[in-house]
Amino acid sequence: MSVERIKCLIIGSGPAGYTAAIYASRADLKPVMYTGMEPGGQLTTTTEVDNFPGYPEGIDGPTMMVQLQKQAERFGTEVRIGMITKVEFSSEIGGIHKAVVDNTTEIEAETVIISTGATARYLGLPSEQKLRGGGVSACAVCDGFFYKKQNVAIVGGGDTAAEEATYLANICEHVTMLVRKDEMRASKAMQHRVNSRKNITVLYNTEVDEVLGEQVVEGLRMINSETKETSEIEITGLFIAIGHKPNTDIFKGQLEMDETGYILTEAKSTKTAKPGVFASGDVQDKEYRQAITAAGSGCMAALDAERYLASIEQEVEA
Ligand code: FAD
Ligand code: NAP
Repeated sequence: MSVERIKCLIIGSGPAGYTAAIYASRADLKPVMYTGMEPGGQLTTTTEVDNFPGYPEGIDGPTMMVQLQKQAERFGTEVRIGMITKVEFSSEIGGIHKAVVDNTTEIEAETVIISTGATARYLGLPSEQKLRGGGVSACAVCDGFFYKKQNVAIVGGGDTAAEEATYLANICEHVTMLVRKDEMRASKAMQHRVNSRKNITVLYNTEVDEVLGEQVVEGLRMINSETKETSEIEITGLFIAIGHKPNTDIFKGQLEMDETGYILTEAKSTKTAKPGVFASGDVQDKEYRQAITAAGSGCMAALDAERYLASIEQEVEA
């Protein structure tokens, strides 16, 4: 296995990773970024981003991520396609951290910035798993087009579900939205968008009992969690929008995490339990999970990495 020594490794290419890359490259840390399976991160699965400062008319997610990549490359970030498949972090101050890329190349890094974000959750029903790719999808923006003028359903009551329900309402004949509680978690503005669409029906206290169909989705059996009554609707597409799981499996046993797998960082910093390893973005933030907060913590991670390296250099000189 070939081995390469670098100053700063950035794992992940969402808003956190690219912002860390912009700051780290401007600080001459010569960062190398591995993009993972989803270059550009979660925002590449959405259309309009209206709440990122600096875009008065809004911007579509994929375009914004291409611009972030160009900005990071302008200052010398090396962006590489590849997955980090294994890590071995040093516990020593000034220690070298090891990361394996696609099980083939080993990177030795003085600092590591983890920005691996989060991945969509599924309900876990056997019927849902059977029909993934056959009408069950976790990305309305990617797959909504296939259900043009058809009846679909979406599960979830957060901002993603509300945004995707509105998106689907533009394409599909009718959208049924299943919210498991008696209220939506989505922001008031998002709820207003949903409620103002005539072709969206919101069913509260409602969960999926079974996705119907053998090869493709043909319908949905739903259960009312209060009355326990079941009912069925005919649909051809089911969109799951029930949140995300932090992408931290490869860091288990290496870093401290909370009970749901989010990486724990020191208060007011991006420092993890290992010196020289920093975490930024959704991977360490289950509270805000926004592009701007991810970008902000990416900036913090690069500054933390720069200060960490400077403090080691000072010690060596002294
Ligand atoms: P992510 O964007 O999740 O990126 C993670 C990156 O890590 C990816 O590039 C992935 O490939 C990489 N990765 C993972 N594992 C590995 C590995 N082992 N090796 C290498 N790379 C790896 N926020 C807003 O502010 N405004 C919005 O309008 C908005 N709309 C949204 C719409 C949708 C549909 C969704 C799902 C989210 C939306 N959000 C929005 C939230 C926003 O997208 C996230 O908060 C933000 O993308 C988090 O950035 P991140 O850099 O932490 O991680
Ligand atoms: P989220 O806020 O965690 O919401 C998940 C939703 O799914 C909740 O309504 C939850 O119900 C429901 N749910 C979870 N498990 C379920 C299950 N097994 N069965 C049925 N329903 C289930 O996730 P999100 O909506 O993906 O949003 C993630 C972050 O991105 C948030 O911070 C959000 O603000 C942000 N975001 C922002 C925008 C925007 O600003 N334009 C757009 C999209 C996302 P409960 O409420 O009952 O727990």
